[in-house]
Amino acid sequence: MADIADNRLPAHGVDADTVLARLDALAGDDRDWRGGRVFSLVYNAGDDVLDLLTRAGNRFSAENALNTMAFPSLGRMQHDIVTITAGLLGADRRPAGSGRVRGYLTSGGTESLLQATKTARDRGRAERGVTRPNMVLATSGHAAFDKAAHYFDVQARRVPVRPDGAADVGAMADAVDDDTVLVIGSAPSYPQGVIDPITDLGALAAERGILCHVDACLGGFLLPFLATLGHVTTSWDLAVPGVTSISADLHKYGYASKGVSVILYGDAALARLQPFVTSNWLGGLYGSPSMAGTRPGGPIAAGWAVLHYLGEDGYLRLAADAHRAAGKLRSTIEATPGIAVRGAPDATVLAFGDDGTGSVDTFSLGDALVERGGWFFDRQSPPDSLHATVHAGHAEVIDELCSDLADAVADVSGSGARAADRGTTYGTV
Ligand SMILES: *Cc1c(COP(=O)(O)O)cnc(C)c1O
Repeated sequence: MADIADNRLPAHGVDADTVLARLDALAGDDRDWRGGRVFSLVYNAGDDVLDLLTRAGNRFSAENALNTMAFPSLGRMQHDIVTITAGLLGADRRPAGSGRVRGYLTSGGTESLLQATKTARDRGRAERGVTRPNMVLATSGHAAFDKAAHYFDVQARRVPVRPDGAADVGAMADAVDDDTVLVIGSAPSYPQGVIDPITDLGALAAERGILCHVDACLGGFLLPFLATLGHVTTSWDLAVPGVTSISADLHKYGYASKGVSVILYGDAALARLQPFVTSNWLGGLYGSPSMAGTRPGGPIAAGWAVLHYLGEDGYLRLAADAHRAAGKLRSTIEATPGIAVRGAPDATVLAFGDDGTGSVDTFSLGDALVERGGWFFDRQSPPDSLHATVHAGHAEVIDELCSDLADAVADVSGSGARAADRGTTYGTV
């Protein structure tokens, strides 16, 4: 952090062009995501989409979704995003007698998972008198569940995944006890892109009378289209019996601006546990659906805009592009001695690294990829791996990437090179 003494508010303002030029200069060292060389952090559907997002976001950059009576436009947009998402995630394919699906927007996947955890804690407390709640999830479940556990005093019980990277439902069943308030599956998991056996997890939860959340933050706006294209055949959404909530990030494969995720609940009574309402202060009745008070209108407007701009045919095209690119990357990895795919990924997200023969050091390969073509993959462990979230924007560079990958493997193969830096950083403080 810069010294405070060096960094006082300027005594005099400067003109807008100067300020914007300084911002451009600050961006000088940022990774070039436009060229498809960054994975996981940015999802790019092309310049036309980016232009739309910018214009829609700017149009609502001042409006505040804290009060939709003042800004009914934002209320309407949120309603539209939630209902459109519910339609994609199986709301109208649910078993007879299921409750009504209700949902909310949040600022992102993390906040959706925080809310799912808090709702489960409150439900366990109110209906079952659980005072020391726990939740059961696979080691592949997102880190945000540990954040939720920490914030809300819920124990996170992590259960090792199977060799293919999927949740081990039998072992998870063994970890469930009378204080378990939530069972979690991912569709797909972030680290290795594997869809957990959601049908079995839903059945496990239903049998024990506990809630089941599907973390489809990554897959919520991808898997429905891959399913239509015939590339995904397993069941993983709200239509699965026993699934009580699901989260999907519009700012990932929905190709929206950052700051929009959706959480849906399988019945209205459960959904009502999420909002917070108080009148216990001098400011009157205050209600808020999620963590933040003031909520920016820009990301909501941009999210609404991109759903309508792309439509089903647009998302199908983008899903097909991403799937083709991911398939090419996967087959290149599988055909290259020295490296291997981790687990059995189901969609367009995969992790890869050394194949265990010792000829390649995974993180040296990561360094070599940056050197060869500026390809920036997040590092993960355990086991050591490089993380590729392949999206539509990668389709046009995938051949170049695959050729650089083969060369980079040759660079580091048998060289005995071992990257000195073993750090694995996906989020920073
Ligand atoms: C990205 C992701 C999250 C967290 O979402 P953020 O938007 O980064 O807060 C949670 N779960 C999965 C599976 C994810 O891919």
